[in-house]
Amino acid sequence: MDMTPDDFPTSAYIGGTWVTSKDQFAVINPATGLDIARVPNLTPADARRAIDAASAALPEWSAKTAKERAAVLRRWYELILAESEALAQLMTSEQGKPLAESRGEVAYGASFVEWFAEEGKRAYGRTIPTTAATKRYITIKQPIGVVAAITPWNFPIAMITRKVAPALAAGCTIIVKPAEDTPLCALALAKLAEKAGVPAGVFNVVTTQDARGVGEVLCADGRVRKLTFTGSTEVGKILYRQCADTVKKLTLELGGNAPLIIFDDADLDQAVAGAMASKYRNAGQTCVCANRIIVQAGIYDHFATALAVAAEKLVVGPGATAGVNLGPLINADAVAKVESLMADAVAKGGTVKTGGAKDAAGSLFYKPTVLTGVTTDMDIVSQEIFGPVAALIKFETDEEAIALANNTPFGLAAYLFSQNIHRAWKAAEKLEAGMVGVNEGIFSNEVVPFGGVKESGLGREGAAEGLEEYLETKFICLGGM
Ligand code: ADP
Repeated sequence: MDMTPDDFPTSAYIGGTWVTSKDQFAVINPATGLDIARVPNLTPADARRAIDAASAALPEWSAKTAKERAAVLRRWYELILAESEALAQLMTSEQGKPLAESRGEVAYGASFVEWFAEEGKRAYGRTIPTTAATKRYITIKQPIGVVAAITPWNFPIAMITRKVAPALAAGCTIIVKPAEDTPLCALALAKLAEKAGVPAGVFNVVTTQDARGVGEVLCADGRVRKLTFTGSTEVGKILYRQCADTVKKLTLELGGNAPLIIFDDADLDQAVAGAMASKYRNAGQTCVCANRIIVQAGIYDHFATALAVAAEKLVVGPGATAGVNLGPLINADAVAKVESLMADAVAKGGTVKTGGAKDAAGSLFYKPTVLTGVTTDMDIVSQEIFGPVAALIKFETDEEAIALANNTPFGLAAYLFSQNIHRAWKAAEKLEAGMVGVNEGIFSNEVVPFGGVKESGLGREGAAEGLEEYLETKFICLGGM
C-alpha cells in the first residue's frame, strides 16, 4: 500500500535469492532517454541455476493442493492491487505508456492471478465408460513441470501474469526471462510474489541482455518441459526449432497483422471509437492493434475524415504527464521502422491525412497518423507497424474484404464493424484469426481465450484453455477387476 517505484528491486531473483552481478545493463525511460536503473546482465550459466532452483522447488509445490496454491496466488493478487499505483508508475517509467494505460494494465495483469487462482481448483479429469468388464478408465490432470517464459516489453506485467499465474495454479514452477527493455516490472512482480509466500524457486526471474544465450539454455534443457513465449514471429520460430530436440510443449503468442473491416452499414461513431482504441492504444504497440483498416468505398471518405479528427485530439507526450494519451515508442529502432514504412507507403502513392512525422515531444515520439490510399503493394500492409499509424485500404464487395483480410500469414486478432448481424456473423466465421471483435475494438480479458492461428502462434492464454496449457492428461487404466 505504501510502496513507491523506487522500493522495487533491481536484482534478479533465483531460488528465492536476490541475485546481483558486476555486469549490469541500464533500463532507459523512453520518454526522457534517462537511465532509471541498472539490473544484472545474467549469463546462460545463471539460467541453468534458475532451472536447478525451479526443478528443486517442483516436487513440493506440485504436491500442494490446488486450494493451498490458490491461497498463495490470492495473496499475490491482493498485493499487486495494493501496490497498483507504484507498479503503474514503474511501468510508465520503463515502458512509456500513459499512466492511465499502465493503471489499466496492472488491473488487467492482476485479473489473471485472481482468475487462475480459482481455475486451478477446476483441473478436472474424467471417468470414461469402460470397454471391458475387467477394466476401469480415468484421466487425471497433472502439472507439466518446470516452465520457461520469455516475455515482451509492450505489456511488462500482463504478459508475465498471464503465464505465471496459470503455471503456478497448475502446480508448475517457472523461470521468466523478461524483455531487456522492461525488466523492472518483472522484478516488482517477483518481490510481491515473495511477500505473498510463493516458495523459493517456484517463480524465478532472469534478467539479461543475452536473450539468445539464455534462450538456448532454456530450450535445450530437458528439465524444462514447456516454453511459453510472447514476442515476434521471427524469434518464435527460432524457439520452436530449438525446442524440437527436447519435444517441449509450446505456447507461442506471436506477431499479428490485424485487419479491421468497416462495412458501409457500420455505425460511424462506433467504428471510429473502435478503430481509435484498437489502433492507438500503447502508441500502436500491441500485437492485436489494427494493422490494416479495410473500409468499404461508400463510407471510406467519411470514415477517414472522422478518424483523422479523432486522432488529432490525442495528446502526445510523456506517459507520466496528466492528460497524455499517446506516449513514446519503445526505442529508436521502433521509430526508424515506422519512418521506413511511411516512406515506402508515400513513395507508392499513399496520402498522409494527418500526422506522418515525428512529434516535437521528443526523439521517440511519433504523431498519431492516418494514411489513405493504401494499396497491397506497400510494406505497411504486410508488416506489423507497431506504431500509431492507421493505414486505410478501400474495398468494394464483402468477398473482397474477407480476401484482403485473410491475405496474410498471420491470424491473431481481427475486427469488423457492421450493423447487419448476418453480414457480421458470416464475416466473423470467415476471418482467419484466433479472435474477432464485432463492433468492438478491445476485447481481451482473463476469462476469454487469447491466441492466434497460422503464423501468429500456438495455444491460448487466459480462460480454461490457458490453464490446460500447463497440464498433462494422464490416463490410468485399473485392470484385473
Ligand atoms: P519485439 O520485437 O517485441 O522486441 P522479440 O521477439 O524480439 O520481440 O522479443 C520478445 C522477447 O524475446 C524478449 O524477451 C527478447 O529478449 C526475447 N528474445 C529475442 N531474441 C531471442 C532469442 N534469439 N532467443 C530467446 N529469446 C529472444
